[in-house]
Amino acid sequence: MSKVKVIIAGPRGKMGSEALRMIEKNDDLELVACLDHKFDGMSIKEFENLPNLDAKIYTDIESCFQSVEADVLVDLTTPEFGYLHTKTAINYGIRPVVGTTGFTEEQLQEVTDLAEEKGIGVIIAPNFALGAVLMMQFAKWAAKYFPDVEIIEKHHDNKLDAPSGTALKTAALIKEVRQSKLQGHPDEKETIPCARGADIDGMKIHSMRLPGLVAHQEVVFGSTGENLTIKHDSFHRESFMTGVKLAIDNVMKLDILVYGLENIME
Ligand code: NAP
Repeated sequence: MSKVKVIIAGPRGKMGSEALRMIEKNDDLELVACLDHKFDGMSIKEFENLPNLDAKIYTDIESCFQSVEADVLVDLTTPEFGYLHTKTAINYGIRPVVGTTGFTEEQLQEVTDLAEEKGIGVIIAPNFALGAVLMMQFAKWAAKYFPDVEIIEKHHDNKLDAPSGTALKTAALIKEVRQSKLQGHPDEKETIPCARGADIDGMKIHSMRLPGLVAHQEVVFGSTGENLTIKHDSFHRESFMTGVKLAIDNVMKLDILVYGLENIME
């Protein structure tokens, strides 16, 4: 069986380094290069805290894609670079698996159109934790019967975007089935701006950022005399890697962009 040749963008990061460890453990995957914005020409094995994999680091995406034969690009960087990496990979016929969050609606639409035009599989997953994907699906189911809902997402304090991609995706799924309504008291007033959180169609989203947290979310539904809370916790970044592997396996069979792992989970 031929191995899937993978490039990791962001290999020194918290997610990227975990993805390197995942590749090391999977015999059907081969790390062929990495994309970073520093350490050009070095090998991953030269870094003490990274797996002993002999893959060259490129800081120039064009020369990386021109020099290396690859099937999949796994992007775990920042929204600005993740978007550029994704577009460039599609243009080179390399299938992107994107974990980087914070793409705008316009950027998502642009890469969706580009993938379709080129007939290249792309997976963008705001959350690779399978438990989180199920939490979102269960929340969508519950929202049909409980239209009063608030989302509380909690992440480590190095996270750049708020609300999280998962919270936005959860709200989008809920919106598909929830009867639109303004929540809380009609005369409610915030004495401190944003006290009630961000608003999507009357739903509220609250973002916490604290050291020690990884990625956590509660979707709280309220109704007469009862509450329902659907909660998911990622305690370690390893929790995301089952989803990264699933996405790499599936992106090889796609010729369009798929947004969200639920669309490839049977
Ligand atoms: P991180 O630890 O800050 O890692 C990001 C890495 O990207 C850093 O090593 C950074 O290098 C590097 N980088 C910056 N610019 C780059 C460029 N132009 N080319 C290549 N590498 C570049 O962040 P993280 O926690 O791993 O998260 C990475 C992304 O994944 C974020 O967007 C985050 O929201 C997302 N995320 C997704 C999931 C999911 O399940 N989908 C889960 C967790 C996180 P420097 O440190 O030197 O700048």
